Amino acid sequence: IMYGCNNFCTYCIVPYTRGRERSRKPEDIVAEIKNLVNDGVREVMLLGQNVNSYRGISADGTQTDFADLIARINEIEGLARIRFMTSHPKDCTKELLDTMAECPKVAKHLHLPFQCGNDRVLKAMNRGYTAGQYLELVHYAKAKMGSALSITSDVIVGFPGETEEQFEDLCNFVKEVKFDRLGCFAYSAEENTVAAKMDGQIDQEVKDKRAELVMQIQTGIMAQKQAEKVGQTVHVLCDGIDEESGLYLCRTTGDAPEVDGNVCVSSEEPLYPGQFYDVLVDDSDLYDLYGTVAK
Ligand code: SF4
Repeated sequence: IMYGCNNFCTYCIVPYTRGRERSRKPEDIVAEIKNLVNDGVREVMLLGQNVNSYRGISADGTQTDFADLIARINEIEGLARIRFMTSHPKDCTKELLDTMAECPKVAKHLHLPFQCGNDRVLKAMNRGYTAGQYLELVHYAKAKMGSALSITSDVIVGFPGETEEQFEDLCNFVKEVKFDRLGCFAYSAEENTVAAKMDGQIDQEVKDKRAELVMQIQTGIMAQKQAEKVGQTVHVLCDGIDEESGLYLCRTTGDAPEVDGNVCVSSEEPLYPGQFYDVLVDDSDLYDLYGTVAK
């Protein structure tokens, strides 16, 4: 729905390669989704480098922001689920979180990359928010959407100059927020970026060790979260069958396709792609849930 980026995080090459932000006309997006729905599509994913800085201008000159856009898409008959990715915390407004909470078709899944839990490192990254502002958004979103909300994120460890104490801040941040899923990347210098020329580049060995430590913390959090879901009934959309295992692959509102886990369902009755089912979870591993259709 939008292209490019205006943010210039110091480690990233995207604004140079993809150019400044451009948003598609809202009426074109709505028309495309209506066509997809007519072809049988039930779930759409709105994509953009910074999807929530979307600003579409209609042919009559009126402006539509991202919250307005998802409210309009929510009205499309026959569409069952709306997802979006990736949100930038700097542009994630309380109005957007209110709209997410109010629109039943919007998946209660917020992918909100925070990158670091220390303000000095965030400033060096030019991310445009503090750890405190990020936490405020998370608390607001959780208060609005409750346990239905799944929050996923990305983090970079070993940014130039990151001290042991600053890395500790990041670990404490991960423990505090308890992300549903987390991608952790060891910083890697991109040619021609500001960060690549910064002093204090960190040894690969140290970066790898830090990444491993973050993922150890996250693994513990995920194992606990997954175990807590056993015994619960979850509402899922069926994507199809895994021919090898014979299990139907389904996703909850918190699971993005091809990125997050599946709910693997065994059923003697056929399940159909594009249909919703309530599934009783009877087992879990780190990524997937397993269950049967609830009676
Ligand atoms: Fe833009 Fe994301 Fe790159 Fe930052 S990391 S410059 S927000 S694309």
